[in-house]
Amino acid sequence: MTISTSNLVAAPTRPDSNCQLCVRLADFRAQARKLHPDWFNSPVESFGDPNARLLIVGLAPGMQGANRTGRPFTGDYAGDLLYATLLEYGFASGVYQARPDDGMTLVDSRISNAVRCVPPQNKPLPAEINTCRQFLSATIAAMPKVRAIVLLGRIAHESTLKALGVRLAAAPFVHGAVHSIGKYKLYDSYHCSRYNTNTGVLTTDMFRKVFATVRKDLG
Ligand code: SF4
Repeated sequence: MTISTSNLVAAPTRPDSNCQLCVRLADFRAQARKLHPDWFNSPVESFGDPNARLLIVGLAPGMQGANRTGRPFTGDYAGDLLYATLLEYGFASGVYQARPDDGMTLVDSRISNAVRCVPPQNKPLPAEINTCRQFLSATIAAMPKVRAIVLLGRIAHESTLKALGVRLAAAPFVHGAVHSIGKYKLYDSYHCSRYNTNTGVLTTDMFRKVFATVRKDLG
């Protein structure tokens, strides 16, 4: 499927470290700071090379994961599966040790989230997804070489389509689907959360196949 896209807008890719645009999420962060003053508890910045050809878009920081450590997908189960897969397919190098100072680097890839702040129960509200999209849109716009975008879950899929100015009906979310959107290829995957793997919605093999396809396409 080939779809024309609207223009992405160049804008700040990083929210203020005390961003107040989503009142509920700012309050939730403030509560987390009181409970866990040694945790990161701020909007989580993207990780990896802005000149990469691959962008991975997740949902939002997990409370015990990125919200605690400050690096996307670092410190919880979703990161264990994602980084093991990136290492297997050559999109990361080093050893993932679930810490931002583990020295692991991303290779030709970058990881971001549709929503930069941890939401209660991992469920951002539609208005919060819409508000934070400005940073996702700017992140894509600031990656001049990006060609492949892996979308982890329906929210990442839909928010990225909206950032690209594409109608949702033109590229429905289906695990394993590949959508050609202008100069980009979008790869849909169920989110690599513990819930999805525990319930069998996503197996390790299903997840590996998505990245095997990306690797084959990017060469
Ligand atoms: S989710 Fe995004 S827009 Fe909302 S407060 Fe956090 S950084 Fe700001």
